[in-house]
Amino acid sequence: MQHHEIIVIGGGPAAITLAKQLGKEKDLAVIRPEDHSMIYCAMPYVIEGLLHIERTLKKDTLVTDAGAVLIRGSAASVDFSGKVITLSDGTALSYDKIVMATGAEPFIPPIPGAELKGVTGFKTKNNLAGILDFIKSGLKRAVVVGAGAIGIELALALSDAGLTVDLVDMASSILPNLLDREMTEEVEAEVIRKGVNLHLGAKVMGLEGHSSVEHVLLDNGVRIHFDPLDECSEESETLTHEGIVIFAAGMKTNLDLVKGSGIELGRDGIIVNNRMETSLKDVYAAGDCTQYVSGITGKPVPGKLATNAVPMGRVLADNLLGKDHIYPGFFNGAATRVGQFFVGGTGLSETAAVQAGYKPVTGYSEVTTQFPIMPEAKKMRMKIIADTDTQRLLGAQIVSGEPVTGRIDLLTFAIQKQSVLSDLIDLSYSSQPYQSFFPAANSVVLAADEALKKLG
Ligand SMILES: Cc1cc2nc3c(=O)[nH]c(=O)nc-3n(C[C@H](O)[C@H](O)[C@H](O)COP(=O)(O)OP(=O)(O)OC[C@H]3O[C@@H](n4cnc5c(N)ncnc54)[C@H](O)[C@@H]3O)c2cc1C
Repeated sequence: MQHHEIIVIGGGPAAITLAKQLGKEKDLAVIRPEDHSMIYCAMPYVIEGLLHIERTLKKDTLVTDAGAVLIRGSAASVDFSGKVITLSDGTALSYDKIVMATGAEPFIPPIPGAELKGVTGFKTKNNLAGILDFIKSGLKRAVVVGAGAIGIELALALSDAGLTVDLVDMASSILPNLLDREMTEEVEAEVIRKGVNLHLGAKVMGLEGHSSVEHVLLDNGVRIHFDPLDECSEESETLTHEGIVIFAAGMKTNLDLVKGSGIELGRDGIIVNNRMETSLKDVYAAGDCTQYVSGITGKPVPGKLATNAVPMGRVLADNLLGKDHIYPGFFNGAATRVGQFFVGGTGLSETAAVQAGYKPVTGYSEVTTQFPIMPEAKKMRMKIIADTDTQRLLGAQIVSGEPVTGRIDLLTFAIQKQSVLSDLIDLSYSSQPYQSFFPAANSVVLAADEALKKLG
């Protein structure tokens, strides 16, 4: 039986990070079912026609050049006490330590019609290839469920590809995990301007059709109708509908491998401590398959982001090397692009802060991305959220005409370091005509100033 000191099950960012960090130091193998790992974040841009699908496939050398062994296969079961993994082809592998990095899958709710042809998630190469095939074969209409970052990027890409797109979300505003409602106004208008039919505050109740989806039923009485393909069309023998329903309404951890093992599980996945240890000895987990806590509240919070999976992988790698590296928790800094707007959020939204029991105070600023006298200057609006009692920064949001990740990361760092409003007032910043507002003002300082003034 093949034996490795450490076996990682999974081929995504968490597993690749472990391979890169440990491949030269340990006898480490990665088990992955797909031919290629993918850059999921870039999938919408393949649909838009900006990238070829091949550009989104990661090279195996990321793992093998790091000194790790890559095993193509799918783990069918794990005997955690005997320390043996059995692959779906019957191959058995033994290990000293095991890392679960099995990720999460798009959640498709168990509604009537969910099994019909034309219903898909949006994560794998097969999902993407299937959508591209549908478009090639004359697809006219798509319904995207979920107006989070993935759903919006996907809806706009499908619209750019020439489809009629309906975007449905039960929340009353778009990007509900990233932005508070009042920050979404212009962004929402942009989604509509780009031709997407937006259905907010509406839930998909069911899908109807013979073998493929013909109608999508919303709980507000709206019925989205997919026309049947023209009888004379070449495709009519293979494709009997003109639409597709894509669920981008959250991810669900597949826990089949660990069920019954005694590993402690939570709502979001395998529970790990701050060293990425599970409740079973020599069993570790990292990335989307885990449940972990917010670095702000200390309570479990969803955090299925590559920018959480990679740091979790790094923390685990250090601990497996005998270093003492503690993971601070999810802060969930994230960004997206909606047409002409770059949007980002970090920490707690005002709504989430209230739900977590804080009394939030907010501050806003509006400046331009370059000196306002510069021809390319664009508007940038920022909101910060702080705790009234301690003045601690809890969250921030930005809507801008230029990329926001640099500023979002700065604000995430401030949250991580438990900065208070007076720290932000004293921020030492840089300024240059092409890259910022005038030296006379800085967006973070302005927003913090406004919040502090509200506190009197
Ligand atoms: C369309 C899209 C856009 C995204 N955009 C962003 C973004 O802009 N920024 C960001 O930070 N995050 C983004 N994400 C989220 C990010 O991709 C995930 O958080 C990240 O991939 C999680 O990494 P992971 O290694 O934990 O799991 P995954 O990447 O999900 O990898 C899990 C791996 O485990 C394998 N596996 C599962 N079961 C088994 C088994 N039984 N045997 C063997 N292997 C198994 C899977 O096949 C897969 O290879 C996006 C996700 C999607 C789908």
